[in-house]
Amino acid sequence: MTFSAFHPPLRTLMGPGPSDVPPRILEALSRPTIGHLDPTFVDLMDEVKALLQYVMQTENALTMPISAPGSAGMEACFVNLVEPGDKVIVCQNGVFGGRMKENVERCGAEPIMVHDAWGSAVDPQKLEDALIAHPDASLVAFVHAETSTGAQSDAKTLVELAHRHNCLTIVDAVTSLAGTPLKVDEWEIDAVYSGTQKCLSCVPGIAPVSFGERARHKISNRQHKVQSWFLDMNLIMGYWGQGARRAYHHTAPVNAMYALHEALLMVHEEGLENAWARHHRNHLALRAGLEAMGIQLIVDEPHRLPQLNAVAIPEGVDDAAVRARLLNEHHLEIGAGLGDLAGKVWRIGLMGYSSRIENITRCLAALDGVLADIGAPVNHGVALPAAEKILAA
Ligand SMILES: *Cc1c(COP(=O)(O)O)cnc(C)c1O
Repeated sequence: MTFSAFHPPLRTLMGPGPSDVPPRILEALSRPTIGHLDPTFVDLMDEVKALLQYVMQTENALTMPISAPGSAGMEACFVNLVEPGDKVIVCQNGVFGGRMKENVERCGAEPIMVHDAWGSAVDPQKLEDALIAHPDASLVAFVHAETSTGAQSDAKTLVELAHRHNCLTIVDAVTSLAGTPLKVDEWEIDAVYSGTQKCLSCVPGIAPVSFGERARHKISNRQHKVQSWFLDMNLIMGYWGQGARRAYHHTAPVNAMYALHEALLMVHEEGLENAWARHHRNHLALRAGLEAMGIQLIVDEPHRLPQLNAVAIPEGVDDAAVRARLLNEHHLEIGAGLGDLAGKVWRIGLMGYSSRIENITRCLAALDGVLADIGAPVNHGVALPAAEKILAA
Protein backbone atom coordinates (compact mmCIF):
# COMPACT_ATOMS: atom_id res chain seq x y z
CA MET A 1 0.00 0.00 0.00
CA THR A 2 1.27 3.45 -0.84
CA PHE A 3 0.20 6.67 0.80
CA SER A 4 0.05 10.17 -0.58
CA ALA A 5 -1.35 13.56 0.36
CA PHE A 6 -5.11 13.88 0.30
CA HIS A 7 -6.52 16.46 -2.09
CA PRO A 8 -10.29 16.59 -1.88
CA PRO A 9 -12.32 17.13 -5.04
CA LEU A 10 -13.85 20.59 -5.39
CA ARG A 11 -17.52 20.26 -4.49
CA THR A 12 -20.46 22.59 -4.30
CA LEU A 13 -22.07 21.82 -0.95
CA MET A 14 -25.85 22.21 -1.01
CA GLY A 15 -26.88 19.64 1.55
CA PRO A 16 -27.76 19.96 5.24
CA GLY A 17 -24.18 20.96 6.15
CA PRO A 18 -21.31 21.37 5.93
CA SER A 19 -21.85 24.32 3.60
CA ASP A 20 -19.25 25.77 1.23
CA VAL A 21 -16.38 27.31 3.20
CA PRO A 22 -15.22 30.59 1.62
CA PRO A 23 -11.52 30.90 0.67
CA ARG A 24 -11.08 33.67 3.22
CA ILE A 25 -11.94 31.27 6.07
CA LEU A 26 -9.70 28.50 4.69
CA GLU A 27 -6.88 31.03 4.54
CA ALA A 28 -7.47 32.01 8.18
CA LEU A 29 -7.33 28.33 9.13
CA SER A 30 -3.84 27.99 7.66
CA ARG A 31 -2.24 30.81 9.68
CA PRO A 32 0.55 29.76 12.10
CA THR A 33 -0.52 27.89 15.21
CA ILE A 34 0.23 29.63 18.52
CA GLY A 35 -0.21 28.48 22.11
CA HIS A 36 -3.76 28.36 23.43
CA LEU A 37 -2.73 30.45 26.47
CA ASP A 38 -0.68 32.93 24.42
CA PRO A 39 -1.91 36.45 25.33
CA THR A 40 -2.69 37.18 21.67
CA PHE A 41 -4.84 34.02 21.48
CA VAL A 42 -6.62 35.09 24.66
CA ASP A 43 -7.43 38.39 22.91
CA LEU A 44 -8.76 36.45 19.92
CA MET A 45 -10.98 34.41 22.25
CA ASP A 46 -12.43 37.63 23.68
CA GLU A 47 -13.27 38.80 20.17
CA VAL A 48 -14.81 35.45 19.25
CA LYS A 49 -17.01 35.74 22.33
CA ALA A 50 -18.10 39.32 21.47
CA LEU A 51 -18.85 38.35 17.86
CA LEU A 52 -20.82 35.30 19.01
CA GLN A 53 -22.86 37.56 21.30
CA TYR A 54 -23.63 39.66 18.22
CA VAL A 55 -24.72 36.79 15.94
CA MET A 56 -26.76 35.23 18.75
CA GLN A 57 -28.19 38.64 19.72
CA THR A 58 -27.33 38.22 23.38
CA GLU A 59 -25.40 39.88 26.15
CA ASN A 60 -25.04 36.59 28.04
CA ALA A 61 -21.57 36.53 29.60
CA LEU A 62 -21.60 32.72 29.36
CA THR A 63 -21.36 32.63 25.55
CA MET A 64 -18.56 30.59 24.04
CA PRO A 65 -17.55 28.02 21.45
CA ILE A 66 -17.37 24.42 22.70
CA SER A 67 -14.41 22.59 21.12
CA ALA A 68 -16.51 19.90 19.44
CA PRO A 69 -19.35 19.66 16.88
CA GLY A 70 -22.98 20.78 17.25
CA SER A 71 -23.93 17.49 18.91
CA ALA A 72 -21.54 18.37 21.76
CA GLY A 73 -23.28 21.74 22.07
CA MET A 74 -26.52 19.82 22.50
CA GLU A 75 -24.94 17.54 25.06
CA ALA A 76 -23.38 20.51 26.91
CA CYS A 77 -26.82 22.09 27.37
CA PHE A 78 -28.43 18.87 28.60
CA VAL A 79 -25.72 17.62 30.96
CA ASN A 80 -25.46 21.02 32.63
CA LEU A 81 -29.17 21.75 33.01
CA VAL A 82 -30.65 18.31 33.62
CA GLU A 83 -30.24 16.35 36.87
CA PRO A 84 -31.20 12.76 37.63
CA GLY A 85 -34.93 12.47 38.31
CA ASP A 86 -35.87 15.70 36.46
CA LYS A 87 -38.83 15.75 34.07
CA VAL A 88 -38.00 17.32 30.72
CA ILE A 89 -40.53 18.11 28.00
CA VAL A 90 -39.02 17.45 24.56
CA CYS A 91 -40.86 18.64 21.46
CA GLN A 92 -40.02 16.37 18.53
CA ASN A 93 -40.83 17.08 14.88
CA GLY A 94 -37.79 15.48 13.24
CA VAL A 95 -34.51 13.66 13.82
CA PHE A 96 -32.87 16.08 16.22
CA GLY A 97 -35.69 16.12 18.78
CA GLY A 98 -35.09 12.36 19.03
CA ARG A 99 -31.49 13.01 19.98
CA MET A 100 -32.67 15.40 22.70
CA LYS A 101 -34.73 12.55 24.16
CA GLU A 102 -31.59 10.36 24.21
CA ASN A 103 -29.71 13.10 26.03
CA VAL A 104 -32.43 13.45 28.68
CA GLU A 105 -32.47 9.68 29.29
CA ARG A 106 -28.70 9.51 29.59
CA CYS A 107 -28.83 12.26 32.23
CA GLY A 108 -31.04 9.92 34.30
CA ALA A 109 -34.07 12.14 33.74
CA GLU A 110 -37.55 11.43 32.36
CA PRO A 111 -38.42 12.76 28.90
CA ILE A 112 -42.04 13.79 28.25
CA MET A 113 -42.43 13.70 24.48
CA VAL A 114 -44.60 16.12 22.49
CA HIS A 115 -44.79 14.86 18.91
CA ASP A 116 -45.57 16.75 15.75
CA ALA A 117 -45.53 15.42 12.19
CA TRP A 118 -42.20 15.55 10.35
CA GLY A 119 -42.34 18.65 8.17
CA SER A 120 -44.62 20.54 10.60
CA ALA A 121 -43.59 23.14 13.15
CA VAL A 122 -43.89 22.38 16.87
CA ASP A 123 -47.51 23.06 17.89
CA PRO A 124 -47.58 25.52 20.86
CA GLN A 125 -50.98 24.15 21.94
CA LYS A 126 -49.54 20.64 22.34
CA LEU A 127 -46.67 22.04 24.39
CA GLU A 128 -49.09 23.93 26.62
CA ASP A 129 -51.17 20.77 27.14
CA ALA A 130 -48.02 18.89 28.19
CA LEU A 131 -46.98 21.70 30.55
CA ILE A 132 -50.41 21.58 32.21
CA ALA A 133 -50.36 17.77 32.43
CA HIS A 134 -46.84 17.80 33.93
CA PRO A 135 -46.61 20.71 36.39
CA ASP A 136 -43.46 19.14 37.88
CA ALA A 137 -41.47 19.45 34.61
CA SER A 138 -38.43 21.70 34.96
CA LEU A 139 -37.24 22.13 31.39
CA VAL A 140 -38.55 22.38 27.81
CA ALA A 141 -36.34 21.54 24.83
CA PHE A 142 -37.03 21.94 21.12
CA VAL A 143 -35.30 22.44 17.78
CA HIS A 144 -35.71 25.91 16.27
CA ALA A 145 -34.80 24.86 12.71
CA GLU A 146 -35.30 21.12 12.03
CA THR A 147 -32.66 20.35 9.44
CA SER A 148 -34.11 16.89 8.85
CA THR A 149 -37.39 18.35 7.52
CA GLY A 150 -36.83 22.03 6.68
CA ALA A 151 -39.40 23.29 9.22
CA GLN A 152 -38.94 26.23 11.57
CA SER A 153 -40.79 26.53 14.87
CA ASP A 154 -41.87 29.68 16.69
CA ALA A 155 -39.14 29.81 19.32
CA LYS A 156 -40.39 33.02 20.95
CA THR A 157 -43.86 31.59 21.64
CA LEU A 158 -42.55 28.21 22.84
CA VAL A 159 -40.10 29.83 25.26
CA GLU A 160 -42.83 32.14 26.59
CA LEU A 161 -45.08 29.14 27.28
CA ALA A 162 -42.29 27.27 29.05
CA HIS A 163 -41.53 30.24 31.29
CA ARG A 164 -45.20 30.74 32.16
CA HIS A 165 -45.02 27.19 33.58
CA ASN A 166 -41.72 27.74 35.40
CA CYS A 167 -39.57 25.72 33.01
CA LEU A 168 -36.15 26.63 31.66
CA THR A 169 -35.57 26.21 27.92
CA ILE A 170 -32.95 24.58 25.70
CA VAL A 171 -33.12 25.62 22.05
CA ASP A 172 -31.27 23.92 19.18
CA ALA A 173 -30.22 26.72 16.84
CA VAL A 174 -27.64 24.74 14.86
CA THR A 175 -29.22 25.50 11.50
CA SER A 176 -31.02 28.75 12.31
CA LEU A 177 -28.01 30.76 13.53
CA ALA A 178 -27.13 33.46 10.95
CA GLY A 179 -29.69 32.07 8.48
CA THR A 180 -33.00 33.17 10.00
CA PRO A 181 -33.76 35.50 12.93
CA LEU A 182 -32.60 34.14 16.29
CA LYS A 183 -32.90 36.60 19.16
CA VAL A 184 -31.62 34.93 22.31
CA ASP A 185 -32.16 37.86 24.71
CA GLU A 186 -35.37 39.25 23.25
CA TRP A 187 -36.93 35.78 23.26
CA GLU A 188 -35.42 35.04 26.72
CA ILE A 189 -33.94 31.70 25.70
CA ASP A 190 -32.14 30.13 28.68
CA ALA A 191 -29.70 27.86 26.86
CA VAL A 192 -28.93 27.68 23.15
CA TYR A 193 -26.39 25.80 21.06
CA SER A 194 -25.35 25.92 17.44
CA GLY A 195 -22.74 24.64 15.00
CA THR A 196 -20.19 26.25 12.72
CA GLN A 197 -20.74 24.33 9.47
CA LYS A 198 -24.26 25.46 8.62
CA CYS A 199 -25.10 29.14 8.11
CA LEU A 200 -21.76 30.36 9.48
CA SER A 201 -20.01 28.44 6.66
CA CYS A 202 -17.05 27.70 8.88
CA VAL A 203 -15.24 24.36 9.12
CA PRO A 204 -17.17 21.74 11.14
CA GLY A 205 -16.20 20.84 14.67
CA ILE A 206 -17.12 23.77 16.92
CA ALA A 207 -20.35 24.43 18.81
CA PRO A 208 -21.22 27.96 19.93
CA VAL A 209 -23.32 27.89 23.13
CA SER A 210 -24.88 30.55 25.32
CA PHE A 211 -26.45 30.36 28.78
CA GLY A 212 -28.62 33.06 30.35
CA GLU A 213 -28.82 34.09 34.01
CA ARG A 214 -31.45 31.51 35.03
CA ALA A 215 -29.47 28.71 33.41
CA ARG A 216 -26.25 29.87 35.08
CA HIS A 217 -27.98 29.88 38.43
CA LYS A 218 -29.18 26.31 37.86
CA ILE A 219 -25.69 25.19 36.77
CA SER A 220 -23.95 26.61 39.83
CA ASN A 221 -26.58 25.24 42.23
CA ARG A 222 -26.77 21.65 41.02
CA GLN A 223 -27.26 18.83 43.51
CA HIS A 224 -25.19 16.38 41.46
CA LYS A 225 -21.91 16.95 39.68
CA VAL A 226 -22.27 17.35 35.90
CA GLN A 227 -21.78 13.81 34.61
CA SER A 228 -19.36 14.94 31.88
CA TRP A 229 -16.02 16.35 32.95
CA PHE A 230 -15.25 17.85 29.53
CA LEU A 231 -18.59 19.61 29.15
CA ASP A 232 -19.00 20.82 32.75
CA MET A 233 -19.60 24.56 32.32
CA ASN A 234 -18.40 25.21 35.86
CA LEU A 235 -14.94 24.08 34.71
CA ILE A 236 -15.04 25.52 31.17
CA MET A 237 -15.91 28.96 32.56
CA GLY A 238 -12.46 29.01 34.17
CA TYR A 239 -10.89 28.87 30.72
CA TRP A 240 -13.26 31.01 28.68
CA GLY A 241 -14.71 33.38 31.20
CA GLN A 242 -12.02 34.99 33.30
CA GLY A 243 -9.96 37.33 31.15
CA ALA A 244 -6.28 37.26 32.10
CA ARG A 245 -6.77 34.62 34.80
CA ARG A 246 -7.49 31.85 32.32
CA ALA A 247 -6.65 28.38 33.56
CA TYR A 248 -5.84 25.35 31.44
CA HIS A 249 -8.89 23.18 30.80
CA HIS A 250 -8.21 21.65 27.39
CA THR A 251 -6.19 22.70 24.37
CA ALA A 252 -8.49 24.83 22.23
CA PRO A 253 -8.51 23.97 18.51
CA VAL A 254 -6.42 27.07 17.85
CA ASN A 255 -6.60 27.16 14.05
CA ALA A 256 -10.30 26.32 14.00
CA MET A 257 -10.79 29.36 16.26
CA TYR A 258 -9.04 31.54 13.66
CA ALA A 259 -11.54 30.18 11.15
CA LEU A 260 -14.53 30.79 13.42
CA HIS A 261 -13.34 34.32 14.10
CA GLU A 262 -13.11 34.97 10.35
CA ALA A 263 -16.56 33.47 9.75
CA LEU A 264 -18.11 35.64 12.47
CA LEU A 265 -16.29 38.68 11.09
CA MET A 266 -17.88 38.00 7.70
CA VAL A 267 -21.38 37.94 9.24
CA HIS A 268 -20.58 41.13 11.12
CA GLU A 269 -19.36 42.84 7.95
CA GLU A 270 -22.42 41.79 5.98
CA GLY A 271 -24.74 42.62 8.88
CA LEU A 272 -26.94 40.00 10.49
CA GLU A 273 -30.18 41.42 9.04
CA ASN A 274 -28.63 41.45 5.56
CA ALA A 275 -27.57 37.82 5.97
CA TRP A 276 -31.13 36.86 6.94
CA ALA A 277 -32.49 38.80 3.93
CA ARG A 278 -30.02 37.12 1.55
CA HIS A 279 -31.02 33.66 2.77
CA HIS A 280 -34.69 34.55 2.26
CA ARG A 281 -34.28 36.02 -1.25
CA ASN A 282 -32.16 33.11 -2.48
CA HIS A 283 -34.66 30.62 -1.08
CA LEU A 284 -37.44 32.31 -3.07
CA ALA A 285 -35.38 32.04 -6.25
CA LEU A 286 -34.54 28.36 -5.73
CA ARG A 287 -38.13 27.60 -4.86
CA ALA A 288 -39.41 29.36 -8.01
CA GLY A 289 -37.07 27.23 -10.13
CA LEU A 290 -38.03 23.98 -8.42
CA GLU A 291 -41.76 24.72 -8.58
CA ALA A 292 -41.51 25.60 -12.27
CA MET A 293 -40.07 22.12 -12.79
CA GLY A 294 -43.00 20.67 -10.83
CA ILE A 295 -40.96 19.79 -7.75
CA GLN A 296 -42.78 20.68 -4.52
CA LEU A 297 -41.48 21.77 -1.11
CA ILE A 298 -42.89 19.58 1.64
CA VAL A 299 -43.19 22.22 4.38
CA ASP A 300 -46.13 24.68 4.51
CA GLU A 301 -45.08 28.16 3.48
CA PRO A 302 -45.14 29.94 6.89
CA HIS A 303 -42.77 27.38 8.44
CA ARG A 304 -40.29 26.93 5.58
CA LEU A 305 -36.63 27.32 6.36
CA PRO A 306 -34.92 29.38 3.65
CA GLN A 307 -31.60 27.66 4.35
CA LEU A 308 -32.92 24.08 4.06
CA ASN A 309 -35.36 23.22 1.30
CA ALA A 310 -36.90 19.76 1.63
CA VAL A 311 -38.57 18.73 -1.63
CA ALA A 312 -40.60 15.67 -2.61
CA ILE A 313 -38.68 13.35 -4.95
CA PRO A 314 -40.68 13.10 -8.21
CA GLU A 315 -42.65 9.87 -8.80
CA GLY A 316 -40.57 6.90 -9.92
CA VAL A 317 -37.22 8.69 -9.63
CA ASP A 318 -34.33 6.74 -8.08
CA ASP A 319 -33.23 8.89 -5.14
CA ALA A 320 -29.69 7.55 -4.69
CA ALA A 321 -28.94 7.37 -8.42
CA VAL A 322 -29.80 11.03 -8.97
CA ARG A 323 -27.74 12.18 -5.99
CA ALA A 324 -24.80 10.07 -7.16
CA ARG A 325 -24.95 11.61 -10.65
CA LEU A 326 -25.15 15.12 -9.21
CA LEU A 327 -22.05 14.37 -7.15
CA ASN A 328 -20.04 12.53 -9.78
CA GLU A 329 -20.95 14.55 -12.87
CA HIS A 330 -21.63 17.98 -11.39
CA HIS A 331 -19.59 17.87 -8.14
CA LEU A 332 -22.78 18.97 -6.42
CA GLU A 333 -23.85 17.58 -3.05
CA ILE A 334 -27.49 17.69 -1.98
CA GLY A 335 -28.88 15.90 1.07
CA ALA A 336 -30.87 12.69 1.30
CA GLY A 337 -33.94 12.32 3.50
CA LEU A 338 -33.39 11.20 7.09
CA GLY A 339 -35.46 8.89 9.30
CA ASP A 340 -39.17 8.97 8.37
CA LEU A 341 -38.33 10.97 5.22
CA ALA A 342 -35.56 8.69 3.88
CA GLY A 343 -36.11 8.00 0.18
CA LYS A 344 -38.99 10.49 0.04
CA VAL A 345 -37.24 13.86 -0.02
CA TRP A 346 -34.11 15.66 -1.08
CA ARG A 347 -32.76 18.36 1.18
CA ILE A 348 -31.27 21.27 -0.71
CA GLY A 349 -29.28 23.59 1.51
CA LEU A 350 -28.69 27.27 0.90
CA MET A 351 -26.64 27.88 4.01
CA GLY A 352 -24.18 30.69 4.59
CA TYR A 353 -21.69 30.99 1.73
CA SER A 354 -23.66 28.31 -0.16
CA SER A 355 -26.57 30.75 -0.32
CA ARG A 356 -25.28 32.39 -3.51
CA ILE A 357 -26.85 33.01 -6.90
CA GLU A 358 -24.29 30.87 -8.73
CA ASN A 359 -25.14 27.93 -6.46
CA ILE A 360 -28.83 28.28 -7.25
CA THR A 361 -28.27 28.30 -11.00
CA ARG A 362 -25.74 25.46 -10.78
CA CYS A 363 -28.13 23.32 -8.77
CA LEU A 364 -31.19 23.97 -10.95
CA ALA A 365 -29.25 23.36 -14.17
CA ALA A 366 -27.68 20.15 -12.85
CA LEU A 367 -30.97 18.80 -11.52
CA ASP A 368 -32.77 19.69 -14.76
CA GLY A 369 -30.06 17.96 -16.81
CA VAL A 370 -29.99 14.75 -14.78
CA LEU A 371 -33.79 14.49 -14.50
CA ALA A 372 -34.21 15.12 -18.24
CA ASP A 373 -31.65 12.43 -18.99
CA ILE A 374 -33.53 9.78 -17.01
CA GLY A 375 -36.89 10.88 -18.39
CA ALA A 376 -38.31 12.03 -15.08
CA PRO A 377 -41.84 13.52 -15.12
CA VAL A 378 -40.81 17.17 -14.62
CA ASN A 379 -40.83 20.30 -16.81
CA HIS A 380 -37.50 20.95 -18.49
CA GLY A 381 -35.83 24.21 -19.45
CA VAL A 382 -38.07 26.33 -17.24
CA ALA A 383 -36.30 26.31 -13.87
CA LEU A 384 -33.54 28.82 -14.58
CA PRO A 385 -35.79 31.50 -16.14
CA ALA A 386 -38.18 31.19 -13.18
CA ALA A 387 -35.35 31.64 -10.67
CA GLU A 388 -33.81 34.49 -12.63
CA LYS A 389 -37.12 36.31 -12.70
CA ILE A 390 -37.16 36.36 -8.87
CA LEU A 391 -33.54 37.45 -8.65
CA ALA A 392 -34.09 40.27 -11.14
CA ALA A 393 -37.10 41.63 -9.26
C1 LIG B 1 -26.31 19.47 12.16
C2 LIG B 1 -27.25 19.54 13.31
C3 LIG B 1 -26.90 19.08 14.59
C4 LIG B 1 -25.63 18.35 14.87
O1 LIG B 1 -24.48 19.06 14.58
P1 LIG B 1 -23.10 18.27 14.33
O2 LIG B 1 -22.12 19.37 14.11
O3 LIG B 1 -23.33 17.41 13.14
O4 LIG B 1 -22.81 17.47 15.53
C5 LIG B 1 -27.81 19.24 15.62
N1 LIG B 1 -29.00 19.83 15.42
C6 LIG B 1 -29.39 20.28 14.20
C7 LIG B 1 -30.73 20.91 14.03
C8 LIG B 1 -28.52 20.15 13.12
O5 LIG B 1 -28.89 20.57 11.91
